[in-house]
Amino acid sequence: MAIDFDLSPEQAGLQKAARTFADDRLALVESVIAPFPTPQERFAAIKPFYQDMVDAGFLKALIPVEYGGTAMTSLDFAVAAEELARADVNVPSALLGTGLGLQPIIHFGTTEQKDRFLPPFSGSAPLLAAWAFTETAGGANFDTTDTSAGVQTFARRDGDEWVINGDKHFTTNGSGWDGNGAELISVLCRTDPALPPQESLAVIVVPGDTPGITVESYIDTMGHRATASPRITFTDVRVPVGNMIGNPGDGMEIVRRTFNWTSAIIGAACVGRMRAAFDYAYAFAKSDNRSGPVPIIDYQNVGYMLVDIKTRIEAARYFTWKACDLYDKTDGADEELGHMVKIYASELSVQVVYDAMRLVGVNAYGDQTPIAGIMEDVLCFPVYDGGNMGVRRRQLHALLKRPDYDPMQSSSGVHV
Ligand SMILES: Cc1cc2nc3c(=O)[nH]c(=O)nc-3n(C[C@H](O)[C@H](O)[C@H](O)COP(=O)(O)OP(=O)(O)OC[C@H]3O[C@@H](n4cnc5c(N)ncnc54)[C@H](O)[C@@H]3O)c2cc1C
Repeated sequence: MAIDFDLSPEQAGLQKAARTFADDRLALVESVIAPFPTPQERFAAIKPFYQDMVDAGFLKALIPVEYGGTAMTSLDFAVAAEELARADVNVPSALLGTGLGLQPIIHFGTTEQKDRFLPPFSGSAPLLAAWAFTETAGGANFDTTDTSAGVQTFARRDGDEWVINGDKHFTTNGSGWDGNGAELISVLCRTDPALPPQESLAVIVVPGDTPGITVESYIDTMGHRATASPRITFTDVRVPVGNMIGNPGDGMEIVRRTFNWTSAIIGAACVGRMRAAFDYAYAFAKSDNRSGPVPIIDYQNVGYMLVDIKTRIEAARYFTWKACDLYDKTDGADEELGHMVKIYASELSVQVVYDAMRLVGVNAYGDQTPIAGIMEDVLCFPVYDGGNMGVRRRQLHALLKRPDYDPMQSSSGVHV
């Protein structure tokens, strides 16, 4: 019996191609977006890079083979995502946002819905999808059984149509490249204000150019400087009844499965950003004397910090790979390791980049080095994608409390 962390020849090839793409193209993103003062302009500026990602096959990699895609596994995605995020977090985030928007259709859509919505994403256009989960009034209590609270976006049935009203924000990609809406937006809503989410929570696919969708503004974020985080209102937005994925009440399970996908992969993005900080700190330590007689790597405190930083990066990578492998083997049903990876790698990334900052010293706080920018990016990882407090509470604490919880299931390779 063997346990094998070696990459297959195909995975090694993917890793190499992603690394070359990141070095040749994504490394340019920071300087291209720098002159633009608004998030809207910065987002528009990354469109050519996203097109390159499409040309390189990363968009169709999200799509099942039956709908023209290449259905890349979560593990393969993680191998590539680490390389991409090492160079830039914005363009990969646009791809992740598109993946989020498509997950409900991929996992829960009917054949007719998949036929209608997925094939365009297997083509050569730089299409964006979005996942409108978070509300301006909050996202953490989307599943409360108090019907007067929770999701306040409502879909009312009117003949053959759903009529949607509500306010969302942080809808990554929701604006589309030009402010006129993404190709499609998967909107989390309730179908009846009198019913709890278990009976009323639903996901409805809305083409981004449907009348009634307004991009109110763009949130200017500390990091992820070229990620579009728009505030979007839905006012009497009408779509055919056939655009609902599943039935009212299925929204609970759709949310769960959608975040299962991103959780495992975000670990890889965290590893990529940590590597960027390590690479800089390591090169700095080897080459800079800081007006002393020897490069600072010769000092024990600097060397030990580098060892600790590198050790933690290695641990996060293999934990990510394990979670992604389990995601693939359970067809996305794993409820434990992916969320643990998301929490562990994201909180670790803040500690690791902080250590890189301490190691490089005061220059790391200014604009002479990339470390401050990396810190701004990693501070996002614990608070987005459901927020780590929410992930602990809704997914992992809830799992531990279940009577049938088996602490060894994830590690023993028993597949649910
Ligand atoms: C760059 C970026 C991209 C994003 N992309 C998307 C996207 O594409 N789509 C999308 O829908 N969202 C997106 N988000 C939003 C993100 O997923 C949110 O972080 C998430 O919805 C939940 O945030 P929150 O836990 O802070 O919720 P809030 O509701 O704002 O909660 C605030 C705080 O209160 C605590 N709290 C609230 N209620 C409880 C409770 N009952 N028990 C204990 N603690 C509680 C929470 O844990 C949290 O600490 C994005 C965010 C960022 C920064």
